[in-house]
Amino acid sequence: MRKYVIMGVQGSGKGTQCTLMRHDFELTHISVGDILRRHVQEHTKIGALVRRTMTAGELVSDDLVESIVRDRLQQHDWNYGFLIDGFPRNVRQAGFFLESYDIDGVIHLDLPDEEVQKRVLSRRLCAACGMDYNLISDRPEVEGKCDVCGGKLVSRDDDTPEALAARLRDYYGKTEPVLELFRRKEYVLTVDARPGPAAIQKAIRAGLNLPAYQP
Ligand code: AMP
Repeated sequence: MRKYVIMGVQGSGKGTQCTLMRHDFELTHISVGDILRRHVQEHTKIGALVRRTMTAGELVSDDLVESIVRDRLQQHDWNYGFLIDGFPRNVRQAGFFLESYDIDGVIHLDLPDEEVQKRVLSRRLCAACGMDYNLISDRPEVEGKCDVCGGKLVSRDDDTPEALAARLRDYYGKTEPVLELFRRKEYVLTVDARPGPAAIQKAIRAGLNLPAYQP
């Protein structure tokens, strides 16, 4: 069983790397952001609670995300392990997580700020199946349409310059201290997130002593 946390500023490619990794190792990808976005799309009670906060690029309450993570991990559909993405985002969440689960490592995707802005503002998402695109590096074959399901490509509500600024502030103020905490426990593998997805995936597997990536 392998249990990893993946961290990195928005746009650093966490979702892409999770996709490249999870199939080979049968890991369950748990993205707190995806779970919350689904609540918003499906107009649930939780969705109504978090919609505005998410659109502004701010963090939702610790109690809520902790209960989402607890419920998700209690489903026990992760026989071979999990990759958790977007959690923990602050020191309190890290304390909650480490009390309840042991992890094998933290994958930290490192991306300089100037790259972040460029990537995030060109990011698109399929409104139907959630597939990720990027208008610079990973364009769809037909403009505005998902290659997989034909769904409409949209921007995330929080991929605006204002929300990005708020998320970067939280990342440096609240999430970086989590990395420091994990570093003290010697969990952290830092990988340069500037090269293409395959090169990053190779570096992750080499750093975690996993079988090599074959694209
Ligand atoms: P992400 O897809 O990881 O960028 O998350 C999108 C948004 O969901 C964030 O900007 C927050 O509003 C919310 N969110 C996701 N994970 C957390 C978390 N661990 N703590 C608080 N808010 C979160």
